[in-house]
Amino acid sequence: MSKDCIFCKIAAEEIPSHKIYEDDYVLAFLDIHPCSTGHAVVIPKKHFESIEEIDAENLAFLNDGARRAAKKIYSVLKPDGMNIGLNDKPAAGQAVPHIHLHIIPRWKGDGGGSMHSIVRAKTTEPAEETVKKFV
Ligand code: AMP
Ligand code: ZN
Repeated sequence: MSKDCIFCKIAAEEIPSHKIYEDDYVLAFLDIHPCSTGHAVVIPKKHFESIEEIDAENLAFLNDGARRAAKKIYSVLKPDGMNIGLNDKPAAGQAVPHIHLHIIPRWKGDGGGSMHSIVRAKTTEPAEETVKKFV
């Protein structure tokens, strides 16, 4: 547990939350400022800040928790779709430094966009050049 972390406090039940799914490793609760009805946040109970920090086992638990929470949301709220994603690090919009997946239920005609609408940063580098940096 990280002392001043709000999500650690939620996991420890020091701060209340509207839980929709819980197991030994993961907790999913409704976002306090929902982007749509049923917008949920899925967290590992153990504190990790980012995708670089979390270990493979806890990431697997987090993903499986998100899968289970998403299935519950589909069965209860019957959305037409969902966006599921992670704001990793402040530059990408992460406000709470405890890794978490957002599940945002979507309905036809709700006016929202896809993941692609989040960022439209221009890249001038062709993919052939970018891929060379990975070898
Ligand atoms: P992010 O910007 O990816 O770090 O998202 C953090 C999310 O946590 C935001 O969508 C907040 O609305 C949500 N949040 C912050 N505090 C709480 C809380 N006490 N209970 C539920 N959701 C929260
Ligand atoms: Zn934490």
